[in-house]
Order: sequence, then C-alpha cells, then structure tokens
Amino acid sequence: MNIPSLTPARKALEQLKPYSGEMPEGKLILAANESSYNLPKALREEIAAGVVDFPYNRYPDPLGQSLRKKIAEAQAVPVESVLIGNGGDELLLDIVLAWGGAGRTMLQFAPTFSMYRIYAEMLETEVISIPRNADDYAIGQDGVKRLAEGDIDLCFLDNPNNPSGQLLSQEEMCTLIEASNALCVVDEAYFEFSGQSMLSYLENYPNMVILRTFSKAYSLAGLRLGYVLAHPEVIDMLARVRMPYSVNAFSQWAGELVVDNLAEFDQPISDIIRERSWLFDALQDTPNLKVWPSKANYLLFRLEGAGAIWQRLLDKHDIYIRDFSSASGLEECLRVTVGTREENQRFVAALRDSIAHLSKEEV
Ligand code: PMP
Repeated sequence: MNIPSLTPARKALEQLKPYSGEMPEGKLILAANESSYNLPKALREEIAAGVVDFPYNRYPDPLGQSLRKKIAEAQAVPVESVLIGNGGDELLLDIVLAWGGAGRTMLQFAPTFSMYRIYAEMLETEVISIPRNADDYAIGQDGVKRLAEGDIDLCFLDNPNNPSGQLLSQEEMCTLIEASNALCVVDEAYFEFSGQSMLSYLENYPNMVILRTFSKAYSLAGLRLGYVLAHPEVIDMLARVRMPYSVNAFSQWAGELVVDNLAEFDQPISDIIRERSWLFDALQDTPNLKVWPSKANYLLFRLEGAGAIWQRLLDKHDIYIRDFSSASGLEECLRVTVGTREENQRFVAALRDSIAHLSKEEV
C-alpha cells in the first residue's frame, strides 16, 4: 500500500486555534453572555406541540422567507434588507467572505469581539486594529482619520462593545460611518439591553450593515439564529456567499414564534437591565476592583490576581466566568454575564470569598 502524505492546509490557518467555547458541566455558567432565562414557557409549550409532526424530511427554505418577512415587518424595513444566518457568527463570516479577503483591509477597535479578527485572518484580510482608550475603552479620533485615508474595505463597530460594554453615541457612530465608503458593520448583538440602535439611519447609509442575534435577549443561543439589516445591494452580496441551508427549519420556526411574541421578552430584558445595575453596584462596592459601566448583559472588571481568582471561582465555587486576564488591553480583567438575582448574589459572595482567600495567601 502506498500511503500518501498530506498537502498542507492554507498558510493563513497556521496561527489560528480551533475555537473552544466548551462549557464545563455542573457549573453556574456566566461566561457566554447568554440570557439567564430560558424561552418563556408558553413558547416552549408551543414548540413542544409542533415537535412530533414537524416536517424533518424536508429541506428548510434557504433564505427563510417566512421568518425574513416577519423580521422585516417587526423592524419596519423592506424584506430585501434582511438576511438570516446560523447565529450572528455565520453572518460575520459571510461579511468577511464578501468584503474581506487577500488584498483587502479590515479595521477594528480593540479590544473587541474576537471573531472579527479570526475571520479576517482566516481569509487573508489585512487587519488594522486601533486600540481603544486604556481607561474607558472609548474610541478616539484615530478611527475617523484612519477611515478617511480611504483604503479600508470593512470596519467593525461593536456597539455595545464586547467585552468592555460601552456604547458609542449615535453621533460618534455617524461620524465613523460617514468618514469613508468602507462597509461598516454595526454589531448590535446586545442592543436590546442598550436602548440604542442605528436602525433609523439604515435608509441613509448604503455602507452600513446592522448585525443582530436571537442568542442574547431572545434566549435562543442553542438554536443558532441571527440576522443582518442592510441595503438590498449588500444583502445580495451576502446571499451570494451564504451557505444555502445554513439555518435549519426548526430554528427558523422557533425564530418565527419569537418574532410573533416579542412582547413576551420585555420583562426578561428589563429584569436583566435591573440586575446589571445591582451587579454593577455590588462590584463597585468590592474593594480594589474596577468595574466598567455596561450597556450589555455582562460586566467587565479588573482586579489584582484575576487569573487565580477566576480559577478559584471555578474550582471552589463552581462558577464559570470569562477570563481575559492575559488578553491584550484586558490585563487582569474578567467578564461576568448578568444572571438572575440569586445567581448574581452567589457570584458576588464567591468573588469576595476568593479575593479574601487570595489576599490571606499573600500575607
Ligand atoms: N457579536 C458579538 C459582539 C457577540 O458577542 C456575539 C456572541 N458572542 C455574536 C456577535 C454572535 O452571536 P451568535 O452567533 O450567537 O448570534
């Protein structure tokens, strides 16, 4: 038998690591910015009633026309301005497939959502990463100047920004979007918790695409569903690179139920906003800890010995949050998802215990 060798994969993949978002079992998970509430019971019951006779043998509608129409109606935009995807993550990839690639340039403001850079590098796009201010993670004037140079093809504006939680004002967003003809991706994955959207500018900005997800405020992270809103010319390009059946029929159907019942989510969303404020105050009252104000459903905070504290939270308290302590621009930082009051109380008590334990060890 002649055993052949294997030709290497593309060079651009050499530096990439497979994404490992694995969640440990049996822990309180406050690491992925999911909703702390499952779908409202009435919706779960409706799903349960449709499970047995669901047409599993049929392919889904490729563009999810029925869901697409409902989203268009709910957002008051033409149906040609909507495209659904397998989570926002798939749509981000589609955007980079269509506007990135070898010989093209992407701009981002770091620290920000990691997938922008990962997709860009995977597709050999040059990445220009402008650092946010160290103290408040705001974007200075450098971004506008850089965009005005005219060579940027694609720009990511995460608003509110993950993981730091700040919201750029609409004026700041407009200045950035108007600075060039680059496609500006306004990532509104958490907009339901922020009370601010760029949607009202959509008609005027052919170079803007708004990204939304059902994973956060709408409790559907497990079913993978997101959408973008943009001018039909942008949607047409994204539809060209999109995987035909990426959103399965079940998720499309569940998404329709959510859009038909948006008011059901008002309470959980306002509960999360209230809890964010409770958790912010509790963190701010914790000595030697800096917490940044957030307009999303998570809080970023910095404290000495963050890595060890993260480990103790996991090992001794069974609480899993996100460790950014060795990430660039996020040194000694951890991010916690806002949970229910009970979860938040448990987390704050565990955090304070871990801090006390660590400082005793140092003595
Ligand atoms: N954008 C941002 C800023 C996010 O934090 C996330 C989820 N972590 C996404 C997009 C994608 O979310 P999903 O794929 O679950 O829709």
